[in-house]
Formats: sequence, C-alpha cells, structure tokens
Amino acid sequence: MSKVRFEALGTLFHRKPVEIPIGNEKISDYFGRKVFGEKQMRQHLPGDAFKSVQKSIDSGNRIERQVADQVAAAMKEWAIGMGVTHYTHWFQPLTGSTAEKHDAFFEPTDGGGAIEKFRGDMLVQQEPDASSFPNGGIRNTFEARGYTAWDPSSPAFVIGTTLCIPTIFISYTGEALDNKMPLLKALNAVDKAATAVCQYFDKNITKVNATLGWEQEYFLIDTALYNARPDLMMTGRALFGQAPAKGQQLDDHYFGTIPERVSHFMRDFEKQALELGIPVKTRHNEVAPNQFECAPIFEETNLANDHNLLLMDLMDKVAVKHNFRVLLHEKPFAGLNGSGKHNNWSLGTNTGVNLLQPGKNPKENIRFLTFFVNTIKAIYDHADVLRASIASAGNDHRLGANEAPPAIMSVFIGEKLTEMLDNLEKNVKSGSMTPEEKTALKLDIGKIPELLMDNTDRNRTSPFAFTGNKFEFRAVGSAANCATPMIALNTIMTKQLKAFKKDVDALIKKGEKKDIAILKQLQKIIKESKTIRFEGNGYGEEWVKEAKKRGLSNLKDTPRALSAYTTKETIDLFVNEGIFSPIELEARHEIELEKYVMKIQIEARMLEDLAKNHVLPSAVLYQNRLIKNVTGLKEIFGAKFKDHAVAQLAVIEELSSRMGALKKALDVMLEERKKANVMEDIEKKAFAYCDKVKGAFDEISYNINKLEITVDDELWALPKFRELLFTK
Ligand code: ADP
Ligand code: MG
Repeated sequence: MSKVRFEALGTLFHRKPVEIPIGNEKISDYFGRKVFGEKQMRQHLPGDAFKSVQKSIDSGNRIERQVADQVAAAMKEWAIGMGVTHYTHWFQPLTGSTAEKHDAFFEPTDGGGAIEKFRGDMLVQQEPDASSFPNGGIRNTFEARGYTAWDPSSPAFVIGTTLCIPTIFISYTGEALDNKMPLLKALNAVDKAATAVCQYFDKNITKVNATLGWEQEYFLIDTALYNARPDLMMTGRALFGQAPAKGQQLDDHYFGTIPERVSHFMRDFEKQALELGIPVKTRHNEVAPNQFECAPIFEETNLANDHNLLLMDLMDKVAVKHNFRVLLHEKPFAGLNGSGKHNNWSLGTNTGVNLLQPGKNPKENIRFLTFFVNTIKAIYDHADVLRASIASAGNDHRLGANEAPPAIMSVFIGEKLTEMLDNLEKNVKSGSMTPEEKTALKLDIGKIPELLMDNTDRNRTSPFAFTGNKFEFRAVGSAANCATPMIALNTIMTKQLKAFKKDVDALIKKGEKKDIAILKQLQKIIKESKTIRFEGNGYGEEWVKEAKKRGLSNLKDTPRALSAYTTKETIDLFVNEGIFSPIELEARHEIELEKYVMKIQIEARMLEDLAKNHVLPSAVLYQNRLIKNVTGLKEIFGAKFKDHAVAQLAVIEELSSRMGALKKALDVMLEERKKANVMEDIEKKAFAYCDKVKGAFDEISYNINKLEITVDDELWALPKFRELLFTK
C-alpha cells in the first residue's frame, strides 16, 4: 500500500468525533442572532427610517440616501457590538459561487488616532476590482469597472468578524454580471403577472412571492482519505474506482442512523446556519453510503437562494473542523447515487395563500387550477429553457443516467389530478353552457381537495413533479446556484400568466362570464400542453422512445442543452419579460460553455496524471514482483516451471494487456485534447470536449478499474471506494 494511503487509513483508526456540547439554549434563543433582520432594524433604527426601509423592501424601490446613512450607522452599531471589525459586499459572480472582499471599518484620523466608519455610500455601493470574474465578453478586462449594489431585500449578516452585505453585481454599462440581479428581475416580473391574475379571484392580493424550498444533498469524506485522492481534491469527483462489493443495494443507509461523527458535524453547522437565520429543519441519510441531506423551511426565493449559497459555504468550513470534506458534486462516485438539489417551488400571496394549494370551495379551486395548469403550459412551451438552466458538467452524470430524473423535461401530477384535467378537457363546452352543466363542472372542481387527500402517489423518476401544494423541480444539480433554474422557471411563468390574462380578458370582453372564461382558457391550454405530462417511469427506455414520438427534447449533455439560450424563442422570452438583454444572454451562454470546457479539461488532465503517475507505476511494480517470482520458479523447477506459475503468468499477461489498453486510450484522449484546445469557437470547443475528450474517459477508467482489482492491494496507491465510503 502506498504510504499516503496507508497513513490516511491509519489516521481513521484514531478519529474521534469533534464533540459539540449540547448547550441549554433553545433554537428560538439563537435563531437569526447574526442577522440584521427586521427585529434588529426595529431596535437600532429610528421609527421613520425603519418604516422607509420596509417600504422600499416591499415595493422594490430605491432607498433614499439619507435613510441609507441611517441604516449604515445602525448596522455598524449592531455589528461592532458583536465584535465585528470588517464589512464586505457579498455577491454572486457567474463562477457559480459567492465572492467577498473585506474592508475594515476603521479609518485613521489626524493625530494618529482611528475611528470606526461606515457610511451610507459604503453600504449602498462598492467597486470591487472585478476584472477576473467571468463576464462573457461584456466587460473588457482592462476596464475592470463593475460595481456591487446593496440588495435591501436580503438582510445583512455576520460571519466571524465580518459584516456581509448581500449585493447585486453589475457592469458600469448596466449589464448583470451575477445571478442575483436577473433573479430579482424575474421575481419581480412573476409577482406582477401573478398578482394581475389573482385579481380575478381576490382584490386584496397585491403581492405574490415565488417561494423556494431547496433540499441539499451531499457526501462527506474523511479529510485524510480525501487528501489521498487528488481527483476528489481537484475535480470534486472520483474519476475512476472499482465499485465496492457492497454499494447501496441493501438500502441500509437511507434514513439509517446518522454516524456519531457526522451528527456532531451536522449539529455544528446547523446551529451556525440557524444563527444566520437559515431555517434548517430536516436532516437525514441519503441513498448512497456517506450521502446526506439537509433541508430548510421554504422562504421567499431570493432569500432562500442566498441562504442556500451561505449554507454550502458554511458546510464546507465547518466540515474541515470535523475532519470531513463535503462533496457537493452531482456524481462523485460512478455506480452510486448522485446528489441533487430539489427545488420546491410555489407562489404565495400577501394574504397568506399558497396559490398551488387546492382550496376549500370551487372558487378557490378554480384559482388553484389556474396556477397549476399555467405552470404545466409554461413548462410545455419552454422545456428547453428549463433544461438549459440546470446544465453543468457535473449534472450531466446524473440526468438520464438511470438514477436521477432523465434529461427529458416532463411534468408529473398524479392520477387524480390527471383525471381532473381530463374532465375539464371534456366538460367545458366550447359553445355556451347550460346552467346545469356549469354547476356540475363547479361541483366537480370542488372535489379536488378530497381527491388529493388519498392521493399518495409519488413519482420519484419525474424531473418536475407536483407534490400536493408545490412543484418539485428535481433535476437541479447539488452544486448549482438555484438562481439559474429559478430565473428560468419564474420567467416562463411570467410569460404564461400574462398570455393567460390577455386571453381570458378577451373572452370576458366577448361577453363570457369570468369563471367560464377562465375555465375555457384552461381547457385550451390543458389540451395544448398535454404531451409534457408523463406519469410513468422516467428511468425506462420506453419513455425515451415515447418522448421522442411526442416530440419532446432529450438533451443529454451541457453543450447541447445550452444551445437553447441561442434560439430566437429564448431570446424573445427573456428580452420581452425584461430579464436579460440579448448581450447578457449571449454572455451567459458563453460563460457556461467556458465553464464546461474548463471542468472537462481539468478532469482530463487529472485523469492522465493519475493514470501515468499512480496507476501504471503500481501495475508495473506488481508485474515486476510476479516476474521475479516466475524467474525464481524457473530456477527451481527448470522447464517444468510453467506448471507452478499458471496464475502468475496469466496475471502478468493481463497486466500487460490492461496497461497497453490504458496507454492507448490515454493517447487518444491526449490527441483529442490537442485538437480541441486550438479551436477558437467556444461552442465547437465545448462539443469537442464533450464528445471527443470526455468520450475517451470511459475506456480509461474501465481499464484502470480492471487494474485496481488485479494489482496487489499493498501496492495500490489510491484509496478505494470501500475505504472512502464505508469507514466511519
Ligand atoms: P418531502 O418533499 O421530503 O416529502 P416536504 O413536502 O415537507 O418534504 O417539503 C420538502 C421541501 O419543500 C421543504 O424544503 C419545504 O420547505 C418545501 N416546501 C413546502 N411547501 C412549500 C412551498 N409552498 N413553496 C416552496 N417550498 C415548499
Ligand atoms: Mg422532496
């Protein structure tokens, strides 16, 4: 065994949980303690300033300069009281993660003294030197002028001794360079469109919030073993590895007892998350060994997304203290379950109504059906946009790989609601309806909640499933920034709700009663969007064939999925709804392609490095051992030595042939990389990396895995899956 692997495993024998003492504080004592939220603002701000901030938050309007000064002063006072010395604008550049640059509050004064300073302008705007963040050609790197601007709808928080202020990140020419700004735009757009539709049902509805409840899946690996697997360190996934004898087939990990070390880690990061106002609620083991999940209570989408980003960061930091590393990659281990981040989504009103919750009477249910059916139609019209929004090199391993939702976008609604929609399709008459027919129809609609009560069917294989009072977008990858899918979903919903409103208004104008106009329009879109609905097994080969017949896309990899960003339909969609300009959209397409190329390039380099520097040397060492043995046998037994060396000779040959095949596959990959690297066009390059470079990975990992089970365990340099995943 290699020294590194041996020592890593040895370390494990002495691992003890890093105990987190159980304090006597209740969660309600420390929840939100490190957040400058409503409670803290009320406490530290003059009354009128507080009201003014709240109003700006609700309406999305700018905060007056003078009020900003007051907020800054209050924030500073509150933060300094907690031992804070620095502040940072916290933003989401298009790398996918978050960025921060810390500045001290303190400023020297004349005469050698110093004071703590934090003015409104420092709160409202900053100019980080942002030349090396991805911008897709929007901003020339030599004019590194982008700025961050305060997002008052997401409260500031304290990490360590730094006050973090959530901000958007934009170029001086106004283009978004981040994920937050378009998300805020999409949320604002869906609010307007949904509120307008809500006016049919309740005039008191003046605001609609898109809600998001994410479920974060992740793997935990011991630090020592992680450090002994350079592929995990550099790419976040094991590029090869023989599947362990026991994987997840016994289903004994799912919802099983949480190991003690892990449970201390969870308690630690959850407490810190709660202090930051992240309402984490659920924790459990996931399907694969060493795989876990954490989910909070849902929140308004912008806040929920900030909280998810914060949590991913926090998990990473806290894990190190507990001698773990968190893997957020979508598929760290071939052959085992991958990790996703289900995005539970709904629309909630200022009157406390969940618009995807079936109601208590026919009227409420027509409202429910309106939002329910319009969502289905939105997905039907723009499935490719939704698919593009979750495309990444990591997620490619999951989607369509027979364990996660397929790459084909479809909607699952369950048997009862399918019946309901079928009825609507049949029973709404296109001409005028008799009063009896109308009553019968409404009675039918009134039955929805009862129908749903015993409707327990759940389809785990659907990428987009209705789960009783929300839709669950399951195809989102575990490492993703939820903003991307949430921008897509809320934008397509906006477009659909606006179109719906327009059509219903036209019917009403023609003399149709409101309810009947709505039902007729719903009937029309139920018919139009029927093919996106699928209730069967999404993992099966049958579905792939069936979907093809229905004309649904099956975009299996990132470069293909991202092409959706370049169609006229998509550009029109985002431009018309005011979310992206054509330039911004093009930039995002380019950035995502670049990201993809870099990820595969790093994997290819790592694979080559490990094959040449770890795998082949181990195989050669073992072969040498065998050769020495055979040579010895020859000395003893002379011509008869072969009878005594059957196994040795066979293994020597096998090693030679595997090593030969490996070398050949590596050469192919290297050639393809060389060809791809000189390509100027980023899209062509991405396709080359996808089809040719990555196309060579399987042959390489296949031969490495065969060597892994052939070579003497003592000589194998890298920790095996069974060690990575089963040691506690
Ligand atoms: P599960 O899907 O595991 O059965 P739940 O149905 O309780 O569990 O919810 C899963 C996730 O859905 C949680 O994160 C929860 O906060 C979220 N969720 C529940 N209601 C809504 C809603 N109206 N909008 C958005 N997310 C929601
Ligand atoms: Mg769920």
